[in-house]
Amino acid sequence: MGARKAIFVTGGGSGIGRAIAQHFGKQGWFVGLGDIDEHGMEVTADGLPGGHHYIHRLDVRDRAEWDVALNAFSMASGGRIDVVVNNAGIPIGGSLIENSPEEIERCLDINLKGVLFGAQAAHPHLKKTAPGSCLLNTASAAGIFGSPGASVYSATKFGVRGLTESLDGEWHEDGIKVRSLCPGFIETPLLDKTPNHGANEAIRDRVNAAGLEITPVEDVALAAWEAVHGDKVHTLVGKTARKLAFAVRWMPGRL
Ligand code: NAD
Repeated sequence: MGARKAIFVTGGGSGIGRAIAQHFGKQGWFVGLGDIDEHGMEVTADGLPGGHHYIHRLDVRDRAEWDVALNAFSMASGGRIDVVVNNAGIPIGGSLIENSPEEIERCLDINLKGVLFGAQAAHPHLKKTAPGSCLLNTASAAGIFGSPGASVYSATKFGVRGLTESLDGEWHEDGIKVRSLCPGFIETPLLDKTPNHGANEAIRDRVNAAGLEITPVEDVALAAWEAVHGDKVHTLVGKTARKLAFAVRWMPGRL
């Protein structure tokens, strides 16, 4: 098995996925990108050193596509996959009462079913490189604390965190770590895509007014590196997530 470690990142064509891919690439890892946005993946690849990367169009909702993508990546990387990052996700805001069935299904399909399928497809590859291999799931601070105004999104991210804890126990004997990242507000294009939230500027004003912060995306990449190499199952990222965690500790009836 080749010496160079290999990481496959979904949602690698934008935001957090791009930052994680580029950070690991700079540390000498062979990088695989999976996304429905092929142009976005090309842009990410331009920022990777030495052209040591592999791009695969992948819709995380398609279980069969997952197998094709990871098998092809494994061939390209010399037979090893050390880390798979289930990061692709979409926002959905607004009141549950107003969310359409189609919107709800799309959010569940990408944010939750896509992560379940990714975990299934990743398992045999990660088992081969264990011990030390890792499945890293991008959850959210909204997966730890309820998010009034984004309840469907929050429900999917609670699901991702629950899956992470369950699989970490289940796969322990296979030598595979399962980790989650729980970022607060991060400066990525996702903030603009959240319905009812409006443009980045409007979010920024609200976040500042609440004494919170929008965290640079590079901080998530550093947290991903720590999560893959450390022992913590869930990693909070950014002041917003940490402040909320602190506040919730003192909230009566929370636990
Ligand atoms: P982004 O919109 O910048 O990137 C998301 C990427 O996922 C895009 O490239 C998109 O094409 C891809 N994608 C969407 N649907 C897909 C599908 N079906 N198959 C494959 N790829 C698909 O968003 P981001 O901010 O980088 O978010 C990445 C992850 O981080 C998401 O899971 C999001 O929920 C989570 N997150 C983001 C924030 C934030 O404030 N930005 C905070 C907490 C958690």
